[in-house]
Amino acid sequence: MDLGIRGRTALVCAASKGLGRACAVALAQEGVSVTIVARGAEALEQTAQNIRDIIGVEVKTVAADITTPEGRQQALAVCPSPDILINNAGGPPPGDFREWDRDKWIAALEANMLTPIELIKATVDQMIARKFGRIVNITSSAVKAPIDILGLSNGARSGLTGFVAGIARKTVRHNVTINNLLPGPFETARLQHTLEVRARMSKLSVKDIATQERAMNPSGRFGNPEEFGATCAFLCSDKAGFITGQNILMDGGAYPGTF
Ligand code: NAP
Repeated sequence: MDLGIRGRTALVCAASKGLGRACAVALAQEGVSVTIVARGAEALEQTAQNIRDIIGVEVKTVAADITTPEGRQQALAVCPSPDILINNAGGPPPGDFREWDRDKWIAALEANMLTPIELIKATVDQMIARKFGRIVNITSSAVKAPIDILGLSNGARSGLTGFVAGIARKTVRHNVTINNLLPGPFETARLQHTLEVRARMSKLSVKDIATQERAMNPSGRFGNPEEFGATCAFLCSDKAGFITGQNILMDGGAYPGTF
């Protein structure tokens, strides 16, 4: 299927590795010029060069912390008016809620709620004026089914989800859609870190915890970031203009509800 977005531009946040990277690659494969953001310049440049070498589209890089006003300014200076915005940032640390003070909560809100809202605010009116825009927020399955040790994520991302539910119904009339993609367990550095924390807490090995978690998932496996990127690219396609305000769960069937 031709997704109909060749020649469009995308700002993909937190995209040197993992799910953000997979989204940037999938969009590039559809002929989208991507600007990718991450803090570490080395991995970022490597990913950019990889995409240029293999796919041959324009890739711009911004080495910055997207959760800071300066970082967002830097990203928007390089890609001021994207057709496609992929909001993403590192997830908050796991732990026990008794250990989280106000500063930890503010950092989680900055990263996983306020940063995407700021970036939507900075780009959505130009999308509306052009009558095309696709915004995808990478959130988490924790929004639908909270994960005990990820309370900071459960809380901050639910705030973003509530906000998006409201505005996504206002922009779609102008062919600007806003959706959330909710990853369950995907094979990335972040998942590895979560498994390590679980292993420490349970006194099992990381390998045993991973085997247990794979077995518990109805699919019997973890997700592949490529699958995530492909879904993101479809949501950004010109075929997906009638999908807005949705929370699309990719978790191998782990969420047990009928809806
Ligand atoms: P990952 O493999 O650790 O990759 C994170 C990427 O984000 C890296 O490129 C990292 O580069 C960049 N990044 C992190 N913080 C940043 C910041 N402040 N500013 C700019 N770039 C930043 O993580 P992932 O698994 O792809 O996860 C992506 C998001 O999905 C996270 O919020 C995570 O909590 C959520 N999630 C993941 C899973 C999963 O199973 N993988 C499940 C549920 C939710 P630098 O470190 O160099 O900045």
